[in-house]
Amino acid sequence: MQFEVLAKAFDEAERTTSRTQLTSILVDLFKKSEPEIIDKVIYLLQGKLWPDWAGLPELGVGLKLLIKAMSKAFNVGESDIESMYVKLGDAGKVAESLRSSRPAQAVGGLVKFIQKAETARLTVAEVYDTLARVAMATGEGSRDVKINLIASLLSKAAPLEARYVARLVEGRLRLGIGDATIMDALSVAFTGSALNRPAVEHAYNVRADLGNVAKVLATRGLEGLKGIAPRPGIPIRPMLAERLSDPQEILSKTGGAALVEYKYDGERAQIHKLKDGVLIFSRRLENITHQYPDVVEMAREGIRAEEAIVEGEIVCIDPDTGAMRPFQELMHRKRKHDVHEAMREYPVAVYLFDVLYVDGRSLIGEPIGTRREVLSKVVAESERFRLSEAVTVSSAPELDSFFLKAIEEGAEGVMAKAVHSQSVYQAGARGWLWIKYKRDYKSEMTDTVDLVVVGAFRGRGRRGGKVGALLVAAYDPESDTFQTVCKVGSGFSDADLEKLDELLAPYVIGHRHPRVVSEMEPDVWVTPALVAEVLGAELTLSSQHTCCRGAIRKGVGISIRFPRFIRWRDDKGPEDATTTKELVEMYLRQLKRISEEAVERAEPQ
Ligand code: ATP
Repeated sequence: MQFEVLAKAFDEAERTTSRTQLTSILVDLFKKSEPEIIDKVIYLLQGKLWPDWAGLPELGVGLKLLIKAMSKAFNVGESDIESMYVKLGDAGKVAESLRSSRPAQAVGGLVKFIQKAETARLTVAEVYDTLARVAMATGEGSRDVKINLIASLLSKAAPLEARYVARLVEGRLRLGIGDATIMDALSVAFTGSALNRPAVEHAYNVRADLGNVAKVLATRGLEGLKGIAPRPGIPIRPMLAERLSDPQEILSKTGGAALVEYKYDGERAQIHKLKDGVLIFSRRLENITHQYPDVVEMAREGIRAEEAIVEGEIVCIDPDTGAMRPFQELMHRKRKHDVHEAMREYPVAVYLFDVLYVDGRSLIGEPIGTRREVLSKVVAESERFRLSEAVTVSSAPELDSFFLKAIEEGAEGVMAKAVHSQSVYQAGARGWLWIKYKRDYKSEMTDTVDLVVVGAFRGRGRRGGKVGALLVAAYDPESDTFQTVCKVGSGFSDADLEKLDELLAPYVIGHRHPRVVSEMEPDVWVTPALVAEVLGAELTLSSQHTCCRGAIRKGVGISIRFPRFIRWRDDKGPEDATTTKELVEMYLRQLKRISEEAVERAEPQ
């Protein structure tokens, strides 16, 4: 496929404010793509070259280098290009404008005018392969290699193509096209119906590589998708929990009995033991292996199988007492350098709670009892690599006493897991098979929510002109939209505020993003990407916000009173934010609690 087709799709996607239209742009694009390159098309649409977890170098060359490449491709002085950049503020527009006003220069110095008719001959495969070489080039001389490769692409590109080559190279495509939109479009393009989207999603949940899933679908159809099973080395999307604060209610949801485990407050880790090594993936499926050489060693020694996928929580511990340390301590392990020093200062333990695959056998369809049994067999426990503390309970008092024990020992609460025959591992889904029960649910909205930034407001007075508040939204997986919840203007430290403009800059767009549902008009719109943890006094109803509008009362949505910013959730993507449905549930629970308290306070007549 010609790169021109992809560039046009990028352009259309960038301009639309309608999600339906965005999907149909993708359907057209996928229908035009040959099956051999559909994976590349998917990665490029998301501004990447491969899935994040692959742990391979990403694009994102600096502006200086890109300017050098443009200068070479278009035979224009670097300082002229710099001034254009100051005026246009976007390397993509600079490249496009240079390409339309000037003939290209062949790389190597020889000026060769490329005829108009000869332009637009770049193919997707050529662009992809060249970009991959740019990303992979390292070491001595790699700067020149990168400049030459980029210049060669730009010199062959038509103006619109040059815009996107430049943005891709800079790592700034940021169209905000989510996995859900891509899955909808794949389903329509290759099965003729959106009704097959669940099959696509299931495959993706089990094998978190959308490019690979698309290729299987494009080449082998729905039948091919059915054959997709866990594969060590490729992460499985994590199963997630609902939340409740009443043990009786928890047990009625899980069917009377539950396996209750400590809820450790650390970092979730999906550990893949392969024949030739160990890989660790985070909650967001990023490859975090390099941060934890100690865990790699523990897994190598402690997993008695050739290949296996297990899940657990990595927690910082006190090396003398073995006691768990607060979650914040783990932040010291998030570094690229001096990893071994951090490892000595902040030792960790791993508490394993699930097993999804062992030597050719997928366990995701098995009930938790079976999985736990396999886990206990496959893991040779040691002090710092062991199974999560767990008991089976069938009454509320039993659950509560385990909950208290968990808290005393420094856990955040407990996870109650259904144990019936249908208690499978629901990859990528949040459901009632797992329920979190945390200490802080007891009081009024002390539990935070994670909301996605979709817009921002500029401050007045002291903060004149600079961003001083955010418009944040919850995620609705059903419609794949972000629905606004509130405007957050407090809770930021001065340092947070200082950085806001810079942080948002790469995501600023000229109009409401097609996946955002909002009635508020912020001063700037942004592509949904950043997730903020927010806490408020209570949940309220609001006619200004669109979150789950009509779910509680006609014409009004759910909002948060006195919201304040707690911290950025870098470990979450926009689709991992709190869902609109969760907010409705939280609101209903709040109502119930208020009315129960009122009944308790009421004087008997
Ligand atoms: P999410 O539910 O979206 O993951 P969150 O990051 O705010 O939201 P938590 O409220 O901390 O998550 O609850 C779920 C997380 O709890 C899991 O992702 C996992 O990292 C952690 N966890 C700790 N102990 C357990 C356990 N025994 N079983 C399952 N998960 C556990």
